[in-house]
Amino acid sequence: MPAGAGVKVRVRDVMLPVTDDDGFYELRFESIGGLGAHLAGQILAEAGVLRMGLNGAHFSSYGSEKKGSPVKSFVRFCRPEQEVRTASPVQQPHLVAVFHEGLLKTENVASGLRPGGVLLVNTKQPPQAIRERLGLKGVAVGTVDALGIAVEEKTRVNTAMLGAVARAGGLDQEAVKDTIRATFERKYPQLVEANLRTFDRGFAELRLEPAAGIDGLVGDGAGAGASQGPVPLYGYLNAPIGGAITNPGNTALKDLSASRQGFLPVFDRDKCIDCALCELACPDFCFVWEDSRDPGDKKWRRLVGIDYQYCKGCMKCVEICPVAALTELREAEGYADAHRVAQFPYLSAATGQGGHTPAQPRREDVSAAVAGGAVRAGR
Ligand code: SF4
Ligand code: SF4
Repeated sequence: MPAGAGVKVRVRDVMLPVTDDDGFYELRFESIGGLGAHLAGQILAEAGVLRMGLNGAHFSSYGSEKKGSPVKSFVRFCRPEQEVRTASPVQQPHLVAVFHEGLLKTENVASGLRPGGVLLVNTKQPPQAIRERLGLKGVAVGTVDALGIAVEEKTRVNTAMLGAVARAGGLDQEAVKDTIRATFERKYPQLVEANLRTFDRGFAELRLEPAAGIDGLVGDGAGAGASQGPVPLYGYLNAPIGGAITNPGNTALKDLSASRQGFLPVFDRDKCIDCALCELACPDFCFVWEDSRDPGDKKWRRLVGIDYQYCKGCMKCVEICPVAALTELREAEGYADAHRVAQFPYLSAATGQGGHTPAQPRREDVSAAVAGGAVRAGR
């Protein structure tokens, strides 16, 4: 990316917090399609090159072109006099930002993170909980409720995560904000102020826990010791035999939890009239039915719940339900596992994913969630 070519902007002289042996400060965004991680990487790289006096590069790696598929976005910065002669994915980042909490379950998000580096996660949980869950040592851990901020500001999580990244990475806050402004005012001028507020809140509301045993925050310990977690290998070193794709695609083993963008449908059995409109609307075979007898001893096919393993949170079922037996809930950690009704209990038992048929969400739990503002839309 040529620094400043044809664009009149105020350039600040920003020092990189730390660099590797090749002179790069590297970031990796772990996300899913639809959360705006690619745009966030683009904005950050543009801010660095056009407004911080750095040289840099950015690109993203996608799975299938589908909302909810895993996405990685890579940003690399160096001093302006240095050329960027690598276009490889960032394998040993100084900073990782995880845009979706569900990825902690499905991806090795901390892979290759350098000692003294920073892991940021979009979650309501405190940093200590994430540190313990992933077994992280020697790195700073930060958490920010980027989804909560985005919902309140009617934006997306990407600008909240950018605020957290700018603060944890010691990058120029104003340079990033200027780039956000320039990006949105071209196409969506009405979104500029909301996105700037989202950025500021991500910056201010980040909870950052320093790396134990390493003085300072970003990068003071970089270069010492081993990387955090295994560094991915390439080609013949880690390809499955025969090049087989082992991650379940559209089979009964597929887990779509990480495709949800912070909300899931909650089922209220007491309101349901078993009309099956949700079954017709759902693209992913989530609704679990049982054969029963009604009070008049007639055959009764009865909806018993939702298998959240297959639910991508599209909310088509919530929209179509005529009696508001389905409502949209802000997903809390562990809720889906605790309230899932297994579509294939025998499969779940075999794969260790829980073969039980848990009790349905209690009506009072749903009512409390509505009263507490956790339920966003009940139709
Ligand atoms: S659409 Fe609503 S009422 Fe009809 S079966 Fe589904 S949950 Fe029950
Ligand atoms: S939100 Fe509803 S319609 Fe969409 S995948 Fe989940 S259960 Fe199916």
